[in-house]
Amino acid sequence: EPYFSIFTSHFFRPPPPLLIIHCSLLIDNMVGIVIVSHSASLAAGVKDLATQMTQGNVPIAVAGGIDDPENPIGTDPMRVLDAINEVYSEAGVVIFMDLGSALMSAEVALEFLEPEQVKNVYLCDAPLVEGVMAGAVQASVGATAVQIIKEATEAMLAKQQQLEPYTTTAVDKQAATKTEAEADTPPATGEAHTHLTIRNPQGLHARPAANLVRLANQFSADVTVRKGTRFANAKSINQVATLGVVQGDEIAVTSIGDDSAEAIQAIEALAAENFGEEIKERASSAGDGRRNKKREAGVGTAVGGILQGIAAAPGVAVGRVFQYRPQLPVVETYDLEEAEIVPEVNRLRDAIQQAVAELTAVEQRTSQQIGSQEAAIFGAHKLILQDPDLQKVAVRCIQDDRLNSEAAWLVAANQLAEEYDALSDEYMRGRAADVRDVAQRVLRFLMNVQPSSLELDSPAILCALDLSPSDTTRLDPDKVLAICTEMGGATSHSAILARALGIPAVVGLGPLLSRVPDGSHIGLDGETGQLWLELTEESEATLQAKREAWLTEQQAAKAAGQRMALTADGVRLEVSANIARPQDIESALAYGAEGVGLFRTEFLFMDRVTPPDEDEQYEAYRQAAEALDDRPLIIRTLDIGGDKPLAYLDLGEEENPFLGYRAIRFCLDKPEIFKPQLRAILRASAHGRVLLMFPMISTLDELRAAKAMLLEAKSELKKEGVKFDNQLPVGIMVEVPSAVAIADQLAREVDFFSIGTNDLTQYTMAADRGNSNVAGLVNALQPAVLRLIRQTATAAQEAGIWTGMCGELAGNPLAAPLLVGLGLRELSMAAPAIPAVKEALSHITIAEAQALADEVLGLGSATAVRERLAR
Ligand code: PEP
Ligand code: MG
Repeated sequence: EPYFSIFTSHFFRPPPPLLIIHCSLLIDNMVGIVIVSHSASLAAGVKDLATQMTQGNVPIAVAGGIDDPENPIGTDPMRVLDAINEVYSEAGVVIFMDLGSALMSAEVALEFLEPEQVKNVYLCDAPLVEGVMAGAVQASVGATAVQIIKEATEAMLAKQQQLEPYTTTAVDKQAATKTEAEADTPPATGEAHTHLTIRNPQGLHARPAANLVRLANQFSADVTVRKGTRFANAKSINQVATLGVVQGDEIAVTSIGDDSAEAIQAIEALAAENFGEEIKERASSAGDGRRNKKREAGVGTAVGGILQGIAAAPGVAVGRVFQYRPQLPVVETYDLEEAEIVPEVNRLRDAIQQAVAELTAVEQRTSQQIGSQEAAIFGAHKLILQDPDLQKVAVRCIQDDRLNSEAAWLVAANQLAEEYDALSDEYMRGRAADVRDVAQRVLRFLMNVQPSSLELDSPAILCALDLSPSDTTRLDPDKVLAICTEMGGATSHSAILARALGIPAVVGLGPLLSRVPDGSHIGLDGETGQLWLELTEESEATLQAKREAWLTEQQAAKAAGQRMALTADGVRLEVSANIARPQDIESALAYGAEGVGLFRTEFLFMDRVTPPDEDEQYEAYRQAAEALDDRPLIIRTLDIGGDKPLAYLDLGEEENPFLGYRAIRFCLDKPEIFKPQLRAILRASAHGRVLLMFPMISTLDELRAAKAMLLEAKSELKKEGVKFDNQLPVGIMVEVPSAVAIADQLAREVDFFSIGTNDLTQYTMAADRGNSNVAGLVNALQPAVLRLIRQTATAAQEAGIWTGMCGELAGNPLAAPLLVGLGLRELSMAAPAIPAVKEALSHITIAEAQALADEVLGLGSATAVRERLAR
């Protein structure tokens, strides 16, 4: 009910500037006070008290309640208007309100005043009782309206200061009592508590906080986290993150509700796993906080043509400057009419939804191209966006302040970013950048603007004010020699992504960076955090030599991935890469890919207005086949739909897109799309070792229909005299539980299986892979999923075909021995994971892997599996 809504930030808003400007017009009469409250008796009581304190010297009027005997609680603008008129003089009137609609009624009342009067009427955001008392006393001594407002708004400070020791003690006492009580007696039904000490080096920062929030959201009980005297709702990412929990802090978690005990148990288990974060000793290379701290003294200053910043990602670069200075959308603010409020709220909600969908795609792309750890930031961005508190603030700005969506969203996002900015922990302060990144994404949708281009014609050093994680994932590592930014810290997500992409980076270089001319020749060392604004022959030679050494080191690391994938007892396995474009092959091979286990062809269909025709696809597949020489290239036919919609393909709106018209279901229905793709793949098969794979097969009929279409394509090409590999192996992705159930039947009709754990997990666990609230279930280490993997591999072995895996799980080095033990012979993953997976495989024999698989399949939870694998 909007009239009773409480929007606390109103209390902290300064009075409208228009009114302050005219304070000089005040004359010497006494300022009148108006008290607006939902309750007539409350208003009268406050008036009584103030009258007593000022001995009746101050004109005070009340506007309490509404004219409805049945339901007298509320506020009425006309009563406010009458009250203003009752005490009005040119000295001015100060209005004090309780909450919610009282504010709106007062604002409406102003609209009925003469313009001359409006200038002298002030809304005061002080708390009602304290404000009126302080204000009235000031008024009684002849203070101006502005002096009254100042005194009134500071009234709470004195009270807070006086009571602070009690508040702190009370909270501590409560905690202590609860701890003692917990020790002797079991907690009352429906309430449970725990105390946890945080071991994570960055405290409860975005990723662990996100894991906690996701988990808390799985329970109906209310879950509260307390650090000292501050509380946070454990279901709100922003509240948890801005609590500022750092390493070594103790937090108290309280859960109230039917499943409170389960909630606390689950949270304790998550805390035991460091909130899902792998805690390793941080390397002492770039990004080491201690080393950077020492250097921070000189950050942003130029000495002898060298600008000192913070080392963020190792590596050295010399090259021309590319100044990336995107123009952020300028947000216009305007007032809404009553009828525009609802559509405007809907417009904001739509934009948020679009931003969430885009983030899902970015998360997927990052996880495919860089790694799932690095992609997790975009999961956290989604949580920020979906945070009910953030949305509530924005919606209330629209409803109560009548601001347009863009302005309201900006107010809410800035308020939140400022909360992060105010935290004492450096890492947590850095999260403000994430909030701003997320805010920009929503603004783009609201204002219908495209992100600025980051395309470079030739290799260059990218200079920017700051670089958001979204910007960083759009960078082409072949073109961007290095990154340098004015703002940012070594722990920003852009820095983490730059390290993962192997791009040297220096951040926090300060405003001097903006003056470096576009195209000028500079040098940068990502290990020392230095930037050479001018290069002498000598300094350039030194930097070039260091760059050579760094590149050699990089090569050596990649060379480690070049060895064959062998188990400790010499069994040959195949470790391949997942790609989205033929251009990805070069880097995949550099990481040691022995082939491509999944070419996600849908990426060829994205970011365009019509589908690529047969020839265009043929070119892409041929290019990939040739780039791989004789290594295998598994091309998956179009997997569109689900979370990968395409505007130009008529997929329609679906209630449940993941259970809908997707992949093979769509292709079999659209021969005009499917056939050219099959023909293009067949034609490319003449140029390398191509294998073809159908996604989302859930029945034998689908497989047979797809193969029939392939046969048709073959006979067409034969008739046309076009060359192709008639023996082209045909496989399917096993990613729907029904395919596992009939794996024995399917295995008789294909040449190989490749398990897609991303979808297999979501369909087995009935948990949307893009929904952060059920992220705990979308874990391929769930015993149910592992059993289906074994069932698939066993059916394949019995039919004499091989099984591989191209889902995310394949790139997890911890899981690699288990997967081999379950019977897989090929693992395909995001290329950067290859060296670590090969390394993990080299330490285990097949017999050990099988024993591990037998043991793990008997475990009862994904957590237990993970713990066993980590041993
Ligand atoms: C999978 O589902 O595991 C898979 C590899 O396919 P995608 O992620 O493209 O749906
Ligand atoms: Mg899939």
